[in-house]
Amino acid sequence: MPRPLYLVILAMAAAALLASCRGASTPEDARLRVVATIAPVGALAQAVAGDAVRLDVIAKAGVDPHEYQLKTADARAIANAQLILRNGLGADAFLDKALGNSKGTVVTITDGLTLRDGASGDGGSGHDPHVWHDPHNDIAMVEVIVKALATADPAHAATFEANGRAYQERLRQTDREVQALIEGIPPANRKMVTDHDAFGYFAARYGLTVVGTVIAGVTTGSEPSAASVAALVQTIRREGVRAVFAESSVDPKIARRVAEETNVRIVDDLYGDSLGAPGSGADTIEGMLLSNARKIADALK
Ligand SMILES: [Zn+2]
Repeated sequence: MPRPLYLVILAMAAAALLASCRGASTPEDARLRVVATIAPVGALAQAVAGDAVRLDVIAKAGVDPHEYQLKTADARAIANAQLILRNGLGADAFLDKALGNSKGTVVTITDGLTLRDGASGDGGSGHDPHVWHDPHNDIAMVEVIVKALATADPAHAATFEANGRAYQERLRQTDREVQALIEGIPPANRKMVTDHDAFGYFAARYGLTVVGTVIAGVTTGSEPSAASVAALVQTIRREGVRAVFAESSVDPKIARRVAEETNVRIVDDLYGDSLGAPGSGADTIEGMLLSNARKIADALK
């Protein structure tokens, strides 16, 4: 007795479905799954990986990573990742809660950098985590990312290496451009007051001095006391600081009050912990560095 036609069609459809699942006809399924914890790490990973990997960034552009709470989708991405790239140093402490379900390799891309001291806050390490504000640190982290990706996905090693070299050259160029912008500021004016202590590496690299911060320390979670705000106001007057710099990802209300009280400029949209939204021009490390440098140079000239 011949089989009914609909059964034949069902069998063919099932066979076709099976073939498409098994085959390499869906390339995104075959790519290495990589998680980057925070936007700056994601931007460096993106520059090295191009579209050769599937990259998920957890605390995306515009988000304050110090206060980030993991979402269900984040936990899933972390559990499925074959490689997890993190900043460490307390900037992505949220990852620790989700690592129990992960079998992926975790690489801390700041390992080996020369670190600045930083007050230890929530999840803090005693070191300043904002390393990406010095392009030389970025160049070193690109090296770590190239090695991590090439080890996890040797078939694309040549691509990662070529992308890494090209991006390191781009970062060296950015370093020269930022230097030229900061050199346009009269030396006596190269003093900053920032919201939280996110710009220590930038200041050290380019000869600026951070004379005070609104929030004590390298995390964003604490409110300054009235006494520490009053002391900061004194410092700004005594040092002749020309501007207070707050960040796009942190509420600038106290920084704004300090600027009003001292009658200095407020710049409230530096990128400290995060990057700009896609298409903003500050959605890459070099774009972020140049955007910050232009705003700092404008305000302190
Ligand atoms: Zn920060």
